[in-house]
Amino acid sequence: MKLNGTATHRRQLRIAIIGGGLAGAAAAGVFSRLPNVQVTLYEQSKCDREIGAMIGVMVGGVKCLSRMLSPAGFEELQRILYRGENVDGIRHRHWRTGEIMAGANSPHTPRHMQEGRTGRIALHSLLMSEIPEGTVKYGKQGVCSEAVGDGTMRVHFADGSSEDADLVVAADGLYSKIRKQYIPDDKYVYKGRVSYSYNIPIEMVRHIKGLPTHSSAWHGNNDVVFLSRLRHKLTSFAPLKDWDPILDQVLQLLPGISAYPLQVTAWMENPTRDNALAFVGDAAHPTGGAYGSGCSFAFADVQALFLSLHRTYGYNADEDCSKPLYNVSYALHLYRETRMPFIKRVESQLGNDKLDATYVATACDEKEWIRRWKKKFTINWWILEHDVDAKWQEVEAEERHTWHRKNKEDGNMTDVFGY
Ligand SMILES: Cc1cc2nc3c(=O)[nH]c(=O)nc-3n(C[C@H](O)[C@H](O)[C@H](O)COP(=O)(O)OP(=O)(O)OC[C@H]3O[C@@H](n4cnc5c(N)ncnc54)[C@H](O)[C@@H]3O)c2cc1C
Repeated sequence: MKLNGTATHRRQLRIAIIGGGLAGAAAAGVFSRLPNVQVTLYEQSKCDREIGAMIGVMVGGVKCLSRMLSPAGFEELQRILYRGENVDGIRHRHWRTGEIMAGANSPHTPRHMQEGRTGRIALHSLLMSEIPEGTVKYGKQGVCSEAVGDGTMRVHFADGSSEDADLVVAADGLYSKIRKQYIPDDKYVYKGRVSYSYNIPIEMVRHIKGLPTHSSAWHGNNDVVFLSRLRHKLTSFAPLKDWDPILDQVLQLLPGISAYPLQVTAWMENPTRDNALAFVGDAAHPTGGAYGSGCSFAFADVQALFLSLHRTYGYNADEDCSKPLYNVSYALHLYRETRMPFIKRVESQLGNDKLDATYVATACDEKEWIRRWKKKFTINWWILEHDVDAKWQEVEAEERHTWHRKNKEDGNMTDVFGY
């Protein structure tokens, strides 16, 4: 393949990203590093919105960011992530007494790769700072996308305009309009729970005796309260009556609180469509805060798609010069095969965890409750520390043979790798 000679004569791969949240911002940054691409990020808000409180970035997310961010960006991540003083991970506590029932140390992870907590705005700003100037178009609400032939997708916007792309990345979150187009019967279900959060300056609560310096989660029946520093801030989720008095003291000092009613919808069985559309982040699998891993899943989606696109660069070197040098269809196949086994397994784990929670909640007294809680509590390392690069490599090493063999048998593609 004579890539150097041909690349300059080939049309750029047009990538349209719909939605500029954590998934979309990460995608715009990392896809812009692909050779011969033209990336545009369409965000419905009129400008970069300052919303959200705390967000935990799990080890899997840090792994992705270490590969996706520039060296300066990764350094900034170290600055904004709070990991606790002299302890790693989170302390899990009894809801009323504050007794530490479990720790969550990441056993084989160096500190700079460990999980941490930060402000959602700080994380989003960091991702946005990695995006080349001119990539983001604000005030553009994508309403639907359609395949218009020859691998081209046309994205229609609420303002009546439309844009063509070779790959559409739907990163438009839980209420994805693009997903709705493909799954019109999608239902949103209120989980019957509300998440409350607020960030306040540490000075407001520093005087509280016994205030933990590490990140803590107080566990009750079906309720969890997080309290963590975020470098200069402190954040708190919904302390309730009779909970550990420390939480009440913090609550009394809050000037306000934001409420997020938790809604869910089904996770997608297939995050790709029309050989030219990929769903990433909450648009594909809204976690609603489960495992504190929504952003880590979103980053892993983006990284898997990046690796898949990168792998196919040059596939069409000998073909029609009017086409980009990527094989988007094969890239989406690799993306799907990399992500779906993991996502399906997480989904079944959520069901298992619900059963455990019911078992704990039906304990006859507090002693039994603590016994059951400790017995059932599991840190799902396989979720929190998932290495998407390793999974992608495993998939690619296999698919390089099987996918090509199948397509060759079907007479669908040229044999670029000689298999
Ligand atoms: C209470 C709560 C706590 C959580 N805590 C954690 C945590 O600690 N750690 C963690 O990893 N995850 C957590 N999550 C999950 C995490 O917030 C999400 O998984 C993550 O934000 C998903 O990012 P996203 O970019 O896919 O979606 P979003 O953040 O929802 O971003 C979607 C973006 O798309 C834009 N958009 C929407 N529709 C359109 C359209 N039609 N056209 C153009 N733009 C559009 C929106 O304006 C927005 O900017 C939590 C979630 C909740 C509800």
